[in-house]
Amino acid sequence: MADCLKEKTIGSRSINVNPNLIQSVTAVKGIGEESAELLAEMNIYTVKDLLEYFPYRYEDYRLKDLAEIKHDERVTVEGKVHSEPSLAYYGRKRSRLTVRVLVGRYLIQVILFNQPYLKNKIVLNETVTVTGKWDQHRQVITASELKIGNASGNKDFEPVYAVKGNVSVKGIRRFIKLAFSQHGNEISETLPEKYLLQYRLLNRRDAVRSLHFPADEQELKQGRRRFVYEEFFYFQLKMQALRKIEREQSKGVAQAYDLSKLMEFIDSLPFDLTGAQKRVVNEIMSDLKSPYRMNRLLQGDVGSGKTAVAAIALFASRTAGFQGALMVPTEILAEQHAESLKSMLEPFGLRCELLTSSVKGKRRKDILQHLRDGEIDILIGTHALIQEEVEFNKLGLVITDEQHRFGVGQRRILREKGENPDVLFMTATPIPRTLAITVFGEMDVSIIDEMPAGRKAIETYWAKPEMLDRVLGFMDKELSAGQQVYVICPLIEESDKLDVQNAIDVHATLMHHFHGRYDVGLMHGRLHPEEKESVMKAFSRNEIQVLVSTTVVEVGVNVPNATMMVIYDAERFGLAQLHQLRGRVGRGDKQSFCVLLSDPKSEVGKERMKIMTETNDGFALSEKDLELRGPGDFFGRKQSGLPEFKVADMVHDYRALETARNDASMLVESDEFWHSDEYLPLREYLKEAGVLEGEKLD
Ligand code: ADP
Ligand code: MG
Repeated sequence: MADCLKEKTIGSRSINVNPNLIQSVTAVKGIGEESAELLAEMNIYTVKDLLEYFPYRYEDYRLKDLAEIKHDERVTVEGKVHSEPSLAYYGRKRSRLTVRVLVGRYLIQVILFNQPYLKNKIVLNETVTVTGKWDQHRQVITASELKIGNASGNKDFEPVYAVKGNVSVKGIRRFIKLAFSQHGNEISETLPEKYLLQYRLLNRRDAVRSLHFPADEQELKQGRRRFVYEEFFYFQLKMQALRKIEREQSKGVAQAYDLSKLMEFIDSLPFDLTGAQKRVVNEIMSDLKSPYRMNRLLQGDVGSGKTAVAAIALFASRTAGFQGALMVPTEILAEQHAESLKSMLEPFGLRCELLTSSVKGKRRKDILQHLRDGEIDILIGTHALIQEEVEFNKLGLVITDEQHRFGVGQRRILREKGENPDVLFMTATPIPRTLAITVFGEMDVSIIDEMPAGRKAIETYWAKPEMLDRVLGFMDKELSAGQQVYVICPLIEESDKLDVQNAIDVHATLMHHFHGRYDVGLMHGRLHPEEKESVMKAFSRNEIQVLVSTTVVEVGVNVPNATMMVIYDAERFGLAQLHQLRGRVGRGDKQSFCVLLSDPKSEVGKERMKIMTETNDGFALSEKDLELRGPGDFFGRKQSGLPEFKVADMVHDYRALETARNDASMLVESDEFWHSDEYLPLREYLKEAGVLEGEKLD
């Protein structure tokens, strides 16, 4: 099952395929062995591959008015040749042809590279049609094409394909035209008719034609719309089927927890739950109670109170007679969680233990033994928890924190410990809704979208590097008030390539600046785990007042006395990550501050800094981040598990994604989906994708 999550290309690959289409491309008259070899380098093997090799953009040949074209945009214009063309060679094969053209009231210069043969065709006062990039400042079009004569007879759009090796765009256009004219009629429908009707989608054949040979913008849109839906629908069909099967066919246990004890526990907490916490606790409780296995993602901004929710769930599971486990990505975090869970749960007689790779020897043996005997109620640890030697007596609930750092594989191993334990994944990285329903489409999602009352919002400022002195003054002020400061840098050491402040340099500078007054510590990923830990401990004990660090402090650590964070080269981080970093301060009752030291060059970079100073809402930031950076970069470390769609775009087409998700979800819940012949191809598809096993079909 895991494999279907990793699969890269999405779509209705295997449904209703005419056997003629899965022949080699050489079945197309006009494509020979040689061309087939070239196409193979582009991963195009069959006729179907060729027909579904869609353009990545379109050349727009509709005539435009230069007055309405922005700088750097591509444009097609018609004009009169206003000067003799001049041709200059440089190198043996490279040339540059320049000619003045009068376009409306603009006298512009047109530059053409490496098309010297055009020189003799361009005649003074004749009309030409030019397509290229408009440089508004210099009034120049760098043209990719120049056609003698006016634009009439031109197509509106010409597809542009990604090409490789010796295949040219013109070549692939020709191949696709041949393939479509000979095999277009063999393209059959792959979507259930009801959706075609409901959304007035083009049939598959027409949609293929519209994407390759659009007559106008409307056709292009319609072709795209159909394939966006198709890709999302088939992707979601897998996700929703997986979700249903995981829920129903994995025999979970119904945990009969003790409600009155649970209420007593909740009342013992030093605060009232927020409305959002209550809601997600209810969602989790009904999962525990149900005979299905919980597979739930809990999202909540830093400080929204997820740990309390985890404690409540673990407590409830214990009253039903089960052990629980909490898995986190780092040792420091494990320790902090162990501490806070102990303080909440031990007064109620629950035994919590910490297991990390630094717990060794007899102590480790004892813990493992007591865990097997069922004397330990809650085990907290790093990925050490998924090692084989760790055996539970009766594991009922597994919670992982910051789950996106664990891969799909690890998520599964953990779940396989014990007999179908309920699983809750917690994350403080607010994942935009669109990504959440894509990457975690097979899970239920709970969201804590409310902060405990009385929290002071962190004040965030954006400062240019030349204002460093003032920032240092600001730090002095906080430090002299007895507070502590984080300083974050993107890299550890100096690098020739990247002109960024590095932690080691910054540490040296600040040591010098605060010499004799405050202690400055350094932490980064290349330190030994023990060293990291001792630095972190020293900071949490206020033995160090200023902590210079790379992003290793990012997750979860809690030092409420730290009220200020300075982030160097802030433009190098994603918004979600900046927000996560910023969440290290503002954990006490004092006003906290975050200073972004940054001099972004691009507009997008400036925009991102501005957004950071304007909002503290992690979800809003993450939506924005996704919009600005795209899904591939969203998780920073190139988190896998994101499907790649050929036509669809998760960000811009998110409405279609939601629609497809609802449709797929309703469909897999319906009886007819599992029994009627109409859906046999879809069930075959799920089987082939590894979601269904043969015998589970009826
Ligand atoms: P998260 O894990 O979501 O970042 P925590 O669970 O660590 O957040 O909670 C952050 C802080 O807020 C903790 O000190 C916790 O005790 C406190 N807290 C949690 N829930 C509430 C609440 N409902 N009201 C007030 N404080 C709360
Ligand atoms: Mg937390």
